[in-house]
Amino acid sequence: MSDQREQYLDALGIPVWKLRAAPATTAQPVDAAVPLAVVATQLVAGAAAAPATMQWDDLAVAVRACTKCALHATRTQTVFGVGRRDADLLVIGEAPGADEDRQGEPFVGRAGQLLNSMLRAIGLPRSEVYIANILKCRPPNNRDPQPDEARACTPYLSRQIALVNPRAILAVGRIAAQWLLQTDAPIGRLRGRVVPYGEAGTPLVITYHPAYLLRSPLAKATAWTDLCMVKELLRKPQ
Ligand code: URA
Ligand code: SF4
Repeated sequence: MSDQREQYLDALGIPVWKLRAAPATTAQPVDAAVPLAVVATQLVAGAAAAPATMQWDDLAVAVRACTKCALHATRTQTVFGVGRRDADLLVIGEAPGADEDRQGEPFVGRAGQLLNSMLRAIGLPRSEVYIANILKCRPPNNRDPQPDEARACTPYLSRQIALVNPRAILAVGRIAAQWLLQTDAPIGRLRGRVVPYGEAGTPLVITYHPAYLLRSPLAKATAWTDLCMVKELLRKPQ
């Protein structure tokens, strides 16, 4: 966690927890006992390749073939991400639901429709942004992602963030917010402000998940103030 973000969260009185284990973004050391031919096969299969160095096409292939956590066994297909790979805004959700698992695209169900409206309201049609989730595979019965699943999957998202290199990030929902900031603070404390994210200090805004807004329409007014913050960030000259 960057000092800047740590100091920021500390100043807000938000307890900060360190990553339980650093996401596996570095290549595995090659075991001297493993014959080179086997290592080469692993590399070809992507088993020992590091998402941190991949370009888009290789990254998409690696996700499609991924078996790094148990969710691979129950998915219909992976849900990589969608949108402009050079977008100004990157939207990060939690994990695919039933519709997304079926269609292979994030935020295509009812919550996705509302997300589209929210984005349109700040002048950003869905086609202008990039949308991804913390997890690329659907957790059974839409249960919360488990930390080991999020940890296994995060190198893919980290690489997507680096490749898009957005001007701002919008994280929707408690799960995405808490995972990105590595905190257990409630979303009500995390939303409504701009937090520098990652090494690049990309401005990150957190808001409620559209699925929550469908259940609690009164919170839409609050979410609107968060969206206006995003709009303001993108309006500023680079
Ligand atoms: N909820 C999410 O967080 N992501 C999706 O892709 C769909 C629903
Ligand atoms: Fe791999 Fe992520 Fe799917 Fe787990 S959720 S199998 S880490 S792509």
